[in-house]
Amino acid sequence: MDKNKYITIALDGAAGSGKSTTAKALCAKFKYIHIDTGLHYRSLCLYFLNKNISPDNVLNFLQNEEINLCSFIEQNSAFLLLNQERFTVDQLRNEQMNQQVSYYARIPEVRELLLKYQRGLCQYGQQNGFSGIIMDGRDIGSVVLPDADLKFFLHADLHIRQSRRSIDGEMDSISGRDKLDSTRKIAPLACPKHAVSINTGVLSIDEVVNLISTKILDI
Ligand code: C5P
Repeated sequence: MDKNKYITIALDGAAGSGKSTTAKALCAKFKYIHIDTGLHYRSLCLYFLNKNISPDNVLNFLQNEEINLCSFIEQNSAFLLLNQERFTVDQLRNEQMNQQVSYYARIPEVRELLLKYQRGLCQYGQQNGFSGIIMDGRDIGSVVLPDADLKFFLHADLHIRQSRRSIDGEMDSISGRDKLDSTRKIAPLACPKHAVSINTGVLSIDEVVNLISTKILDI
């Protein structure tokens, strides 16, 4: 492994596939920055809901108003500020957000707004002294970071993913979101080309982290 190389890793998968847990463990281990792009979509969803802007009215809103996107770092993760407004995890991860977010995430102009910002986070991580970046989401390997050094796609049976959510105490109709996310026209959830596909339903977190660590050390 070239110790000076800044590593970019795309980690995609459906809800409850284990992306965040895996990314956080790897980022702590390798001193990488973690980006949870699901939180970006959740933040924009909440921003629009707070302004009573339905998905049908988003385009009109974006044509008339600018939203400033910037970042702040806490521990090994970078988070999004919208017009300097910071949302808490409780505000972003709840039943209402789970029900609404995919309807906003499928709007091309919403994705376009986030795309440039998300790509810029690679440089942001490097400037802030991290050795690499792990970005998790649905379209990271396919759209956001198509040239990532490594790409992984995590998956697990629906009932396993659903029970992980219940254990976390989160009301989340995963199958409904899966359907919306994988059937939308733009940047659908899918295993990216050349990604290593990992079934997290049959492995422990440590096994998933070790498997990915081996690939990182092989670069
Ligand atoms: O990962 P999380 O479940 O928090 O993502 C919330 C929603 O954000 C997803 O269901 C999806 O609609 C959207 N999303 C997306 N593209 C990403 C990350 C999330 O469309 N890269």
